[in-house]
Amino acid sequence: MDFAFSEEQQLVADSMQTFARDVLLPKYAHWDRADAFPAEQIAKMGEAGLLGLRVPEAFGGQDMDAVTAGIAIEAAAKGDFNCCYAILIACFAGEMLGRYGNDKVNAEWLAPMALGEKIICTCLTEPQSGSDAAGIRTRAVRDGADYVISGEKASVTLAMAGNAGIVFAKTDPAAGAKGVTAFLVPFDLPGVSRSPYSDMGSRGIVRGSLFFDEVRIPEENRIADEGAAFSRVMHTFDYTRALIGLMCLGAGQASMEETTEYLKNRQSFGQPLSKYQGVSFPLADWAAKMEMARWLCFRTLWLRDQNMPHTSEAAMCKMQCPDIAVGAIHECLLLHGHYGYTKDYPQEQRLRDVIGQQIADGTTQIQKLIVAREIFGRDYI
Ligand SMILES: Cc1cc2nc3c(=O)[nH]c(=O)nc-3n(C[C@H](O)[C@H](O)[C@H](O)COP(=O)(O)OP(=O)(O)OC[C@H]3O[C@@H](n4cnc5c(N)ncnc54)[C@H](O)[C@@H]3O)c2cc1C
Repeated sequence: MDFAFSEEQQLVADSMQTFARDVLLPKYAHWDRADAFPAEQIAKMGEAGLLGLRVPEAFGGQDMDAVTAGIAIEAAAKGDFNCCYAILIACFAGEMLGRYGNDKVNAEWLAPMALGEKIICTCLTEPQSGSDAAGIRTRAVRDGADYVISGEKASVTLAMAGNAGIVFAKTDPAAGAKGVTAFLVPFDLPGVSRSPYSDMGSRGIVRGSLFFDEVRIPEENRIADEGAAFSRVMHTFDYTRALIGLMCLGAGQASMEETTEYLKNRQSFGQPLSKYQGVSFPLADWAAKMEMARWLCFRTLWLRDQNMPHTSEAAMCKMQCPDIAVGAIHECLLLHGHYGYTKDYPQEQRLRDVIGQQIADGTTQIQKLIVAREIFGRDYI
């Protein structure tokens, strides 16, 4: 057993830590305060190779192994948790299109995405179905060499900035999960419209709804075979859930490090706060939980790189890491005393931002269902 990163992975870790500290962190609060989309950061992330981590080299990406993608997103999240959504959905699109997409469509979309010039959203959730992802009602109807898509997608990350979406629709409504098909749908086509949400956190990147009113797309934009999308997206979630785990832990680690410095410098009753066990022990507890969770994520990604089963481990990452990160950041906020409650320190924003990941990509309850299903088998759940 070898827990060390390879030389190449360590190089990625070091360069991404520097990038996060020097480029992302200084403007983390700015996008939140200004309600502004971090376009310049997305461009710099493209230049740094963060948006092509999972894109095949043939389409301009880095095609990195899953562990290295985890190393990169964890480091980036210490700088700006919200910008990491761009990495996350680029990994999702890179995986879905790179593995199952059409070469012509991939050449058109994956190369600019890897450079940060195009954003491809994930459009699965609908107003009436989130956890029950197979319950979607968006329809894709075959019409000659085209498909015509109609329906509404809810809660789409980067909906307003996105250039296209991987849209999940029913081609055979009677077939349940086996009737779900995925399509790459450009957002500038006639019949596509969108509206933004006003969220408590992750404000700069703006979630929103997408509306598809008889949107016509060619067959080549279909991703994998008809009816094959549900199993493909679940396999892709097994990847992104471990990345989300590390993204949350990266944000938590940033708060832990900031708080450690704060507690060494702030005094009460004539001593640094760090001298009181009531202050240091909570941080020791969270450090232990974060360390355990971190290695679960890297092991999950390692299993993926070995083509070994990792559905249960991925669900455990998503079940545990957002909760641990939110708990650690909340603790850090409290240990800053009244200052933690102000916008002068990053703790309140990080807390608002990271909470979103307790819901996104499948809630904690849904992850428990997956783990329980793996333990008991489908027939007993
Ligand atoms: C920040 C953020 C970003 C997101 N980005 C995207 C995106 O880019 N693309 C996208 O498609 N979606 C996105 N989502 C949507 C997200 O995937 C869904 O919100 C999530 O899957 C939950 O679905 P829901 O909101 O419809 O909740 P519901 O399914 O209505 O669930 C409501 C509550 O009931 C619980 N629940 C539901 N069913 C069960 C059950 N069987 N057993 C026990 N408890 C249950 C849930 O855990 C939850 O607590 C995002 C959400 C957030 C918050």
